[in-house]
Amino acid sequence: MSDEHVEGESEELSIFKEMVDRFIESEIAPKYEEWEKNKLVPPSFWLEMGENGLLCCDIPEAYGGFGVDFHFNMVFAEALAKAGFMALSSNVIVHADICAHYILNMGNEAQKQKYLPNMVTGECIGAICMTEPGAGSDLQGMKTSAVKKDGKWILNGSKTFITNGQNASIYIVAARTDFSVKASRGLTLFLVDGDKAGFSRGQNLDKMGLHAADTSELFFEDVELTDDDILGGLNKGFASLMNELPRERLSLACGSTAHAEGALALAVEYVKERKAFGSTLSSLQDIRFKLADMYSQTETHRVLVEHYKVLLIQKRLTAEQASMAKLVTTEMEDKVIDTALQMFGGYGYMSEYPISRFYVDSRIQRIYGGTSEIMKEIISRKILA
Ligand SMILES: Cc1cc2nc3c(=O)[nH]c(=O)nc-3n(C[C@H](O)[C@H](O)[C@H](O)COP(=O)(O)OP(=O)(O)OC[C@H]3O[C@@H](n4cnc5c(N)ncnc54)[C@H](O)[C@@H]3O)c2cc1C
Repeated sequence: MSDEHVEGESEELSIFKEMVDRFIESEIAPKYEEWEKNKLVPPSFWLEMGENGLLCCDIPEAYGGFGVDFHFNMVFAEALAKAGFMALSSNVIVHADICAHYILNMGNEAQKQKYLPNMVTGECIGAICMTEPGAGSDLQGMKTSAVKKDGKWILNGSKTFITNGQNASIYIVAARTDFSVKASRGLTLFLVDGDKAGFSRGQNLDKMGLHAADTSELFFEDVELTDDDILGGLNKGFASLMNELPRERLSLACGSTAHAEGALALAVEYVKERKAFGSTLSSLQDIRFKLADMYSQTETHRVLVEHYKVLLIQKRLTAEQASMAKLVTTEMEDKVIDTALQMFGGYGYMSEYPISRFYVDSRIQRIYGGTSEIMKEIISRKILA
């Protein structure tokens, strides 16, 4: 199958891809099972990723990054997804493609200097904290609040389902700072260090998939913050979220496409070997046609995400385009992986076969980062505007 998706791909990008593939094979594949069992990628491995230049590649050199473009970040996130290491891919996307860019785009100079270089090295891991027990798709339900008292902001509330929740040391927390207006006008983002008094991590939540990704509840009890901890301006939190969502959603779309490609590759390998009715499965027309459909799906979605990567780099990717990319790639991912698993028969249901992990890991992609239904809301609103 063709790997030449990026038109005019630079030599640097090709060399980087080869380096990433070697790193995954030698440093991740042998350890991944253990991380899945422990439900955590150890912090020491974040340092190893940092040492190897795999985190936040597109952060400017002034803040410790390489100043390359989004393609480089996606090389790593996608290679992890394609290899079936989706939990780590989601951890890295939250850290490098969401949190680091919130700080880069909305932070003041002191905040960028404080956090970004350490995020590049993996010494500081980021988490983005929006969701609460009563507020997921609908942020109006958010109850976490920050109230100003004697010149300090006092943060109270809780968050749930937070990726990197256990490992993180910088938490970007959305809180209501004005309840007299709608959340869209009364929400502020705060930078909360993991060692702040009054902050605590809840349990590492048990999930059906993405086991190696830590996902946590978080609690804030009279956490004291100052104006210097505000990210992007008072009551500007909603606008900041809206600005950053296209990048977040396209990153997820890239991961989904690569994940489907990885599952297809496993299926192709399997049907060429597995014998039934005197021949290999690959000789059956039903199997061949299914593979043709799957490849047509992964390839057309690949073209879409590659085009949108360029639009993102040119700062031309719209919220609707990013939503469409997330919607169609995550739905495609589930269908392709389900069909791939079917080709493995009973073996596909066995944990020792990697395709089973592809199956459980893919299901969340249609839910986090905005559900498929919310993507349809955004897209239809644009059509009808
Ligand atoms: C593994 C994992 C990792 C996550 N990581 C993070 C993270 O790092 N940070 C973070 O802040 N959050 C994170 N989340 C939370 C995730 O973003 C939310 O679960 C998601 O946005 C949906 O919110 P909800 O679970 O409250 O579902 P709800 O909002 O209650 O939705 C329930 C159902 O109703 C549907 N629905 C809701 N509103 C509408 C509507 N207007 N029209 C049609 N249908 C609708 C939804 O599509 C869904 O099917 C994570 C979740 C998981 C499971």
